[in-house]
Amino acid sequence: MISWKSRIALFILFTLALAGRPGASAAEPSADERYKADILLVIGHPDDETFIAGYLARAAFDQHKRIAVIICTMSEAGGNVHGPESGLALGYVQVVEGKRAFSSLGIENVWFVSGRDTPGQNVLWSLGNWGHGRVLGEVTRLVRLTRPEVILTSLPLPVVGENHGDHQAAGVIATEAFDSAADPTVFPEQVAAAHDLRGVGNLTEGLRPWQAKKLYFFSDAFDYHSQYWDDPKDASPFRPNFLVGAGPEYSTTEVSPAKGVSYARLTAVESSFYLSQSGIGDRATAALAKNDFHEYTHPVRLIFGKSLVGSASPTAEVFEGITGAEVAYTPAAGFRPSSAPNLRLQLGGPWEFYAQFWSAHELSSVAHLLPVPELALGNGAALALPLTIENTSGSDADVVVKAELPAGWSEPDTPGPQRIRSGGTIRLQTLLIAPMLSQPQWQELRWRAYSNGKPVGEILLRVLAGKDGGLPQ
Ligand SMILES: [Zn+2]
Repeated sequence: MISWKSRIALFILFTLALAGRPGASAAEPSADERYKADILLVIGHPDDETFIAGYLARAAFDQHKRIAVIICTMSEAGGNVHGPESGLALGYVQVVEGKRAFSSLGIENVWFVSGRDTPGQNVLWSLGNWGHGRVLGEVTRLVRLTRPEVILTSLPLPVVGENHGDHQAAGVIATEAFDSAADPTVFPEQVAAAHDLRGVGNLTEGLRPWQAKKLYFFSDAFDYHSQYWDDPKDASPFRPNFLVGAGPEYSTTEVSPAKGVSYARLTAVESSFYLSQSGIGDRATAALAKNDFHEYTHPVRLIFGKSLVGSASPTAEVFEGITGAEVAYTPAAGFRPSSAPNLRLQLGGPWEFYAQFWSAHELSSVAHLLPVPELALGNGAALALPLTIENTSGSDADVVVKAELPAGWSEPDTPGPQRIRSGGTIRLQTLLIAPMLSQPQWQELRWRAYSNGKPVGEILLRVLAGKDGGLPQ
């Protein structure tokens, strides 16, 4: 028999034990204001932000927005025009260059995550080489820590220009994190409370889910007049500049009220820290020495991705509609297989992925930017182009694909006739060799699929041929 005094003592001990147990408090801790971001920028390499530094300067200095940055790789596979370092040593150099560049904009919360610099223009190569799931976990963690109102990232779309697969991969992962950071079943260990917060052995992270409100992109496409591509003769004759009207536009010739100099100059200052990078640090240093910033006067054109705070115009100011009130988790549509009965010929690889990705993440704004896919290819370069034929017609089909190529192109490995069973999909790879041209020229390449002599689908691809300097395809 336990005495009533002993029962009271046990009750008090039990109550104290409960109160001291981690996670027993019902009060939700407030977010740490040191890390709270209005804008979270997600980029592939240190220096990718130089394309939009004029906007970042405006947001940081004059709109007093808190900006945090995730850089997915150390850009360790690139060249170095300033010192002898290469490989990982160059990566370490660029970590410091990047931190100093952002510091010039007053931005100190800069994280590098574990993607690996992957030269190429195929987003799937980058995602594969990065460790897609690991980097998505890292970016999701930082979305939950920084709790951004807006996520700003590279455009997940292949376009002609120095359109690096790592840039696209940053855009893909930032989009995925936008759509899932508020879902507690995604990386649940990140949103589980600590086992013993003041002690040791904590393997869960104590973060809270977070739904960002708006998603914007930027591009390094030719249309942007970047450090990579700035010859107006290379502009596509087939389409207007796809960035015009795709989102808000910010002048760089205006003077920052806070700093008393133009945003073009602030862009040059920010860029000048990247001394290792050809065409970035050296060009900016020369512009500052000459006090001539005409190369930095292109407006910053952002691309509207999506908004969860009303139906504002895509070209409205980035923060229009954002009040500071939290929004609930808003899941994206997710993947839905096509149900149309048909034989369908389409580009495979990254193009097939993107068609599904834009739909799954409700990025109709991006899906409509470039109705015809395009790429650049140097003189005599090889292009391994993936083609996919899907048969949902309800019966087996014999299909043959024929290429219609401009003069000078060759297709040494022509795919033969294909039998595709009902409900099946076949993936072909056609190898093309580009012509030798005296100057770059935009050309149209076409493939048509036939079944029993009848046309059942076609692909049109626009190529800026004879443009050297592109990345591997
Ligand atoms: Zn880059």
